[in-house]
Amino acid sequence: MVEGGEEIDMPWGIVLKEALRNLFKKPVTINYPVVNVEAPEGFRGLLSFNISKCLGCGNCARVCPTNTITMVPSDKTRLKRAPRFELAKCVFCGSCVEVCPTKAISFTRNYHTAVLKKDELVINP
Ligand code: SF4
Ligand code: SF4
Repeated sequence: MVEGGEEIDMPWGIVLKEALRNLFKKPVTINYPVVNVEAPEGFRGLLSFNISKCLGCGNCARVCPTNTITMVPSDKTRLKRAPRFELAKCVFCGSCVEVCPTKAISFTRNYHTAVLKKDELVINP
């Protein structure tokens, strides 16, 4: 082995002992995605939108720094418009969650953001 340009001699016995010791130890990594790990409380994962609480005010779209949210026509809200989310653009800043007067937007603990098509990360009202 070379450290700082100098060769360090390590007896093979020590190397072998270390290799065998690690062979029977539990792995320190997790076999993701085969094994799912739950994110902790308060984690900012993919957004969730509840249109039954939405007024259509547009506050969320106004504050979003990445244009993740656009307002589109909708008959389901009082002001006849509702947010559409392109979550591939979201940076999880939380501004839309904070500014929504009716708590229609919230974070989930879902961190599975790897998809084949960006459309899979769109929330249509
Ligand atoms: S969390 Fe931030 S970036 Fe994501 S949609 Fe809300 S305001 Fe936009
Ligand atoms: S801020 Fe809340 S109530 Fe207003 S449009 Fe966005 S989700 Fe709807």
